[in-house]
Amino acid sequence: MLEDLATEDVAELVEGLNFAQKVERSLELIKQAYAEHGDGMVVANSLGKDSSAVWHLAKSVSPKIRGFIVTTRFKPPETKKFMAEEVSRYPELRVFRNNEEIPDKLYATDPDKCCEILKVKPTRQAIKEMNVTCWITGLRCTEGRTRTAFKEIEERDIGLIKLNPILIWYEREVWEYLALNRVHVNPLYGKGYRSLGCWPCTKIAQGKDERAGRWIGTSKCGGECGIHTKPLLDYQI
Ligand code: SF4
Repeated sequence: MLEDLATEDVAELVEGLNFAQKVERSLELIKQAYAEHGDGMVVANSLGKDSSAVWHLAKSVSPKIRGFIVTTRFKPPETKKFMAEEVSRYPELRVFRNNEEIPDKLYATDPDKCCEILKVKPTRQAIKEMNVTCWITGLRCTEGRTRTAFKEIEERDIGLIKLNPILIWYEREVWEYLALNRVHVNPLYGKGYRSLGCWPCTKIAQGKDERAGRWIGTSKCGGECGIHTKPLLDYQI
């Protein structure tokens, strides 16, 4: 059972397991989730390095595993190009976007609302349309201040499991995995970015907090778009 693999002591795993043991654990979590959820298990692919690693891990469990990408009108050209390449490599990756009209520069005046409309809503749509019972993310607890309290297996919405199979990986271990497996990555990393998002809300930043370049100058600085913190199933909205 997937729950049997759950652990409360995430910090101990971060420190205690080596790279190979972490890869093995991630694969085991995905394998178990796939055995229990089958086609209801879907990977959320943000086109960032962590998603690329998780997508590669999932594809090594089964090439049939499906995924979805949530994109917005504000994604940088490099990300849009990389998305087109990934979708042509993997047609089982579906793209969701919300094209509804929003006020000009909503990202500056109300970034929470902007993310809710452009990111959270299409994520809800993906989960509904793809009949998802378990979604897989590339979230990691070492990414920054807002990500320390997550678990590998969560059920934030009743009936919808969220699996974070690389939760305990360090940033360098993600790059180790991607390099060793020659995985295609978003070219923006070559420019110095460490965490990717929409262009108005993402800057190149240095330091300990990997997500420090997100939403700089707003109350959301280094924070979350909402897909990991808000309800995703209709009945809870
Ligand atoms: S990251 Fe910025 S531009 Fe993108 S949806 Fe959120 S607030 Fe809007």
